[in-house]
Amino acid sequence: MSNTGESRQRSRVYRCEGIVIRRRDFGEADRLVTVLTDDHGKVRALAKGSRRTKSRLGGHLEPYARVRLMLARGRNLDIITSAQVLEPMTHLRREERSILYASHWSEIADQLMAESEQNRFGYGVLVRALTSLDLGRDPVITSRICEWEFLAASGFQPELFQCTGCGRQIEPGGNGIHIEAGGVVCPECHALDPLSRAVSNDALRVLRAIGRGDGGLLYDRPLNDDLLREIEQLLIGYLRSVIERDLQAWQILSSLEDGTTWGTPGQ
Ligand SMILES: [Zn+2]
Repeated sequence: MSNTGESRQRSRVYRCEGIVIRRRDFGEADRLVTVLTDDHGKVRALAKGSRRTKSRLGGHLEPYARVRLMLARGRNLDIITSAQVLEPMTHLRREERSILYASHWSEIADQLMAESEQNRFGYGVLVRALTSLDLGRDPVITSRICEWEFLAASGFQPELFQCTGCGRQIEPGGNGIHIEAGGVVCPECHALDPLSRAVSNDALRVLRAIGRGDGGLLYDRPLNDDLLREIEQLLIGYLRSVIERDLQAWQILSSLEDGTTWGTPGQ
């Protein structure tokens, strides 16, 4: 790893695969894009002229598409010199709800993934989540898996097996979760700590399944609404505590998830 890192430092041009997680206009015709990449972590780069109609870059830098990029290192910002779409993720862009989920995951990626630091696991988390969304799989389940895995990819996954208060092995029944302490607490520590909130055995079981990579099984085994809500509150609470701010896309998404009839953008 270290010697590839050194050779990367020396070469001015580099290639990678990535997903545009943020994009904003810059100057007259340029765009500033944030890309989560396979080999270079999070990269902020300039796409010169990409807002011009004839730009070769323009159509290849849509948010959430998986793209192959060539970049040149700049003094402050890297410059995208070419872009090619590998997976357009067009289906997910047709639904307002899917766009909000994609934007929620991109925001988490932007907050948790480090700049210019290879994190293949983190990149894979986003690719899998967006692909599932594009294939029309349940975004709620996908989101819980994605949220957990981003926490894991950044080293913040909650402890689920040992009490974060006294270190004892967690047995089923009467446990709590203490978000600031980093995980589960045993019944005794839970009773003593006003900041610990109760966690059900089912929620622990589901989180452990996601943690060992079995989250995909959840698509075939519908969870009841209370359990889904418990897991959602736990993971979102955790993310807020790690990121130390509110999640903007999530605020919109969660207010709309209660009883909204979802349409397509522009209608
Ligand atoms: Zn304890």
